[in-house]
Amino acid sequence: ACFSLGVMVTMNQRLEADTLLLVADEFGYKIEFSDADLEDSETEEIVDSEEDLVPRAPIVTVMGHVDHGKTSLLDYVRKTNVIAGESGGITQHIGAYNVKLENGQRITFLDTPGHEAFTAMRARGAQITDIAIIVIAADDDVMPQTKEAISHAQAAGVPMIIALNKVDKPNANPDNIRQQLSGMNILVEEWGGNVQSQEISAKFGNNVDLLLEKVLLQAELLELKANPDRNAQGVVIEASLDKGRGYVSTMLVQSGTLRVGDYVLAGKNHGKVKAMLDERGKNLAEAGPSIPVTILGLDGAPTAGDKFKVYEDESEAKSIANKREQLQRELSIRTKKHTTLEELGRRI
Ligand code: GDP
Ligand code: MG
Repeated sequence: ACFSLGVMVTMNQRLEADTLLLVADEFGYKIEFSDADLEDSETEEIVDSEEDLVPRAPIVTVMGHVDHGKTSLLDYVRKTNVIAGESGGITQHIGAYNVKLENGQRITFLDTPGHEAFTAMRARGAQITDIAIIVIAADDDVMPQTKEAISHAQAAGVPMIIALNKVDKPNANPDNIRQQLSGMNILVEEWGGNVQSQEISAKFGNNVDLLLEKVLLQAELLELKANPDRNAQGVVIEASLDKGRGYVSTMLVQSGTLRVGDYVLAGKNHGKVKAMLDERGKNLAEAGPSIPVTILGLDGAPTAGDKFKVYEDESEAKSIANKREQLQRELSIRTKKHTTLEELGRRI
């Protein structure tokens, strides 16, 4: 049937959706498609019983219009809230970091441009942010990227906390921002709404502690929990090739505990975790839920947003990696000579 459609294939080859529909139709079958990604154990649903779940740190993304102060805020948090008793701040840029506040509670910040993180992750169906901080400069207006950030958060169902930044500036007018937000149906708490907000100066660090308290308050409402007592899985934040160390991948553990020696499959890459480092470059033996780590040992650089998972069985991980590699190769061949249903129909 394929040959008669002008599709030259062997029996081991996968067919694209359009061809499948036509071929099945030839034989009187109707095809129902399920999600293309749901083909292996990678996407198997995690089912944890309630008693195995323990609280985990919130994972926070900072978004907002350019120059409104995202980097300043992330830098301030990174520099000031270093783990108690730990000397030196965070030196490495690893795309995510975890801070411990004075009260001992922890927050994980994604240190990647929020918009990109959101779109890349969502494109791969990985939801990794629990809370979004929307930074708005109080000496400016609600700008296009502010609106975009807000709609990203709303579409993902991620609660927002509004940081009204640059209030140290003489021309700052936070009420103007509150007003504009209310025009978008976003009513901040001071105005009787349910969206938390905090005036800050990211540059000087004023009230950033209060902002973080609100993050923790929001986190408490979300009752974020995970089971640390299982094989780790999570998402790739970024990866690159390092001259001396080979492939270096920053992973965010979402569930379970990742350990040195674990066999990891991430996207179409795999390998044994040779070493694991935190954002200070310190060696770790293990990392639990909500903890970002840099790992060494993969055979390549997975893509940001790829899911990762630990496999007991090394050969299973390898065979899934190979399958994905092959699938991707086939897909890229297909997109090169893409056939539409219409074109196929014409050929018949
Ligand atoms: P981003 O593009 O959102 O990452 O913004 P940046 O953090 O790079 O900040 C843009 C500019 O605004 C920089 O010159 C910062 O020093 C300045 N800035 C950021 N936050 C504040 C603040 O709270 N007060 C003042 N006065 N300037 C700020
Ligand atoms: Mg920036």
